[in-house]
Formats: sequence, structure tokens, C-alpha cells
Amino acid sequence: MPRYAPQSASTSPRFSGIRTFMRLPNIKEMEDVDFAVVGIPFDTGASYKTGARFGPGAIRETSTLMRNFSMNLNVNIFDHLSGIDYGDLDITPGYILESYKQIEEGLQPIIDAGVVPIAMGGDHSITLAELRAVVKKHGPIALVHFDSHLDTWDQYWGQKYTHGTPFRRACEEGLIDTEHSIQIGIRGSQYGPEDVQGSIDLGFDVLTANELHEIGVAEAGKRIRDRVGNARTFLTFDIDFVDPSAAPGTGTIEIGGFTGYETLSLVREMKTLNFVGMDLVEVLPTIDPAGLTSYMAANIMHEFISILALQKKNTSK
Ligand code: MN
Ligand code: MN
Repeated sequence: MPRYAPQSASTSPRFSGIRTFMRLPNIKEMEDVDFAVVGIPFDTGASYKTGARFGPGAIRETSTLMRNFSMNLNVNIFDHLSGIDYGDLDITPGYILESYKQIEEGLQPIIDAGVVPIAMGGDHSITLAELRAVVKKHGPIALVHFDSHLDTWDQYWGQKYTHGTPFRRACEEGLIDTEHSIQIGIRGSQYGPEDVQGSIDLGFDVLTANELHEIGVAEAGKRIRDRVGNARTFLTFDIDFVDPSAAPGTGTIEIGGFTGYETLSLVREMKTLNFVGMDLVEVLPTIDPAGLTSYMAANIMHEFISILALQKKNTSK
């Protein structure tokens, strides 16, 4: 049996105890570990509302409600996977380049050990540092990017490193295999037609929210799978992909998004992809009074972990 699993809810109620993701052990051990959840509480890259530094804590809090069995994928996660909550990486609030260095170095022991990192932001600027760390081991990777925004702008206020620019920088640094990458859920008002064109020029496929609403989840899933193939893949999930009616606690909301049902169904469509890491970013608990947004985030992470478990189950048959 896998070594590390959540504390049993049948011996201690889920609302009790110190908060870790899904009540996993808070350790930094890498032996016999398949995935490590890690908080990156950095929000200096935000261009509008700030507060995503409190995201990891809020996701941990609501994640204690998550149970181990995925009914839809017919897999009990911890029959197949051993997981830990690594805690938070050190960052330096207000200083993005210093924090990038800390994030890249902080993730290295996890990645070097062959453990799948599942990061909780933080704003979306952190993903650039995560990609640097992941690519150091795996080489350029396919990116599946859920977001209402492209995050491929060149600069904000003359600054190159913000939560609106990480994927342009990542392309410039050669971190992304854009030929196998896709951005999904793009919507809202834009600065101009050059916004979407900018992503296409970098080599991304862009599936806008309108298109996704029109073609539906199953067809969109096929488009993602066809695009990515069997490339090593990093999933980056900005919670503002979800409609603000279901996930209001985020800093730059856009109308016309996706329900919780659609979101989880679409994540499940990716159950055959070859994932090497994931992050979930942009949860702002201070404007999330009912905890809907952080619980949505926890569910998306749960879906991703269930996919890893299913893949392990299928290969060990
Ligand atoms: Mn984003
Ligand atoms: Mn966004």
C-alpha cells in the first residue's frame, strides 16, 4: 500500500486537526512519495486585486472536506498513490526576481526525486519559476493553460515579470513546447485583436470561452488531447477560468465562464495525458466569503490527483 495518505475521517472528524491539503502528512520526505502539494504564497505579480498570498491556506482549509474515492473515475486515490503536503515555499513579498529564485530552488528537491509537484498559488506570475524548475529536469514541456486570460502580454507598466506576462517569458526562455500547448477559456474585454494573435504567434492553440461553450466539453477534450498527444505536460489552472458565479474569490474576474460541473468534466477529459506537474493559482480568500472558490480549487486538484491515481492503477494491472 502507498505510504502516505490522509488521516482517516472515521477515526477523527474532518473538521479537526491542523490544516493540511486533504489532511495529508506535512512532511518533506521524498521517499515513497508520488505527489507533493506545495504552497507558493506570492502575489506581488498581481495587476489588479491582491491577496492570493492567502490562497494556499484557504485551499488547505476547505480541502479537508475532500474524500479519497473518485466516483467518476472509479479510483481510490490512496490505493495507488502516496501523497504529502510539503508546506509552503519561502518567498520574498514585494520582490519578484528574488522570489522566482526561491521558488525554482524550492521545487528542485521535489522534482529531482521524481515526485509530481502540485502547487497552490499565489498569483499566476509564479508559474514561470515553476516551469524553469520542471524544464530543468524534463526539457521543454507542453502547457495546458486554463484561464480567462492569455497571460502572454509583453509587459505591464514597463515591467516584464507580472501575472499577465509569464507565458511570453516562458516562450522566450524556450520552456514551452508550444506546438503541443493550448490555452483554454479565454474571454472578456481585450486591449485589441493583437492579444489573441500574440498567443497564436507564439505558437499556442487558443480555445476561447465562446468556442468552448459552442463545441461543448467532450469535443474540447478531444481538441486538447489531439493537441498535446503524449508530450510531457504541465497543467496550469487559473481559477478565473471558472465563472465568477461559482468562483468569485479571484482578482481579475471575467463574465461568461464555466460551471463547476463543466470545469471538473473538462479536467477529467485529460485523463490520458502525460502530466509532470500542476498548479492552481489566483484564489483570493479575502473576497471569497463562503469558501466557494477555494473549494472549487481543491476539487480541481482532487480531479487531477485522481487522474494520476487512475493512470497508476491502469499501469499496475
Ligand atoms: Mn492567469
Ligand atoms: Mn486569469
